[in-house]
Amino acid sequence: MEIKFWGTRGSIPSPGPHTLEFGGNTSCVEVLLNSGRRLVIDGGTGLRLLGKHLMEAASPVSIHLLLSHGHWDHLLGIPFFTPIYQASTEILVDGWPPAFQAMTRVFDSHMGDGFFPVAFDHLKARIDYLNRLAHGPLEVEGARIDAIPTNHPQGGFGFRIKEDGHTMVFITDSELGADRGQRLPEFAEFVRDCDLLIHDAQYLPEDFPERRGWGHSTYEEVVTLAREGGVHNLILTHHDPGRTDAEVEKIIELARQLATGGPNPHYIDAAREGACYRLP
Ligand SMILES: [Zn+2]
Ligand SMILES: [Zn+2]
Repeated sequence: MEIKFWGTRGSIPSPGPHTLEFGGNTSCVEVLLNSGRRLVIDGGTGLRLLGKHLMEAASPVSIHLLLSHGHWDHLLGIPFFTPIYQASTEILVDGWPPAFQAMTRVFDSHMGDGFFPVAFDHLKARIDYLNRLAHGPLEVEGARIDAIPTNHPQGGFGFRIKEDGHTMVFITDSELGADRGQRLPEFAEFVRDCDLLIHDAQYLPEDFPERRGWGHSTYEEVVTLAREGGVHNLILTHHDPGRTDAEVEKIIELARQLATGGPNPHYIDAAREGACYRLP
């Protein structure tokens, strides 16, 4: 499978000269399966650029959209995803169940209560809500997708995608240190031996205890999880909107120092908008 970052930022878009390296668009990751099937995780503002890219190809757009949760930084791009206005587009939605409701509420309704002038019911694309992941794994053309509840206010899902013996895990907006880290063994089992873990590392250790309960992790906690789970490659994401490129570079450096000497993970980086990874 091939993984491409279209949005790496958390909380709110943060364009400007200090975020050019890692990107200012919010959460959106494209996963192109070996079968050719396209999965999109989250509909943050990065989804707008992915939509533009897909519209440039001649073929109709058909995707699985996996929503981690319903917070705005993970939905903001959906009304600006141009393929949603094409009748030829097919979108199968799954993920954290309340996130689909949140996605429809972004748009206007007959009550006029949305945040956008176009009504959800007037969108031309065919949008089907699968709601499978809340009840077990989802099979997509030979790939298996599993979900794990995150530690996050109002809840959410992390996803594990396995195809042809290779596994990537995407967990955003999850506070590993919640309840004194009591779910760490469960998360370690979920990420066990994966080729690539992409995990929220929005905060620094010094941001706590003030931000305890806000639903995010530190690079220290994520490196610990990666070690416990035998993760091969680690990418830190959901960068704080106030974090400059230089500050994200510093976090990478600190995470690498922390992992030195251990068997895993042997590669650590931070998510960069436009970066692409291929498994194997
Ligand atoms: Zn978020
Ligand atoms: Zn969130």
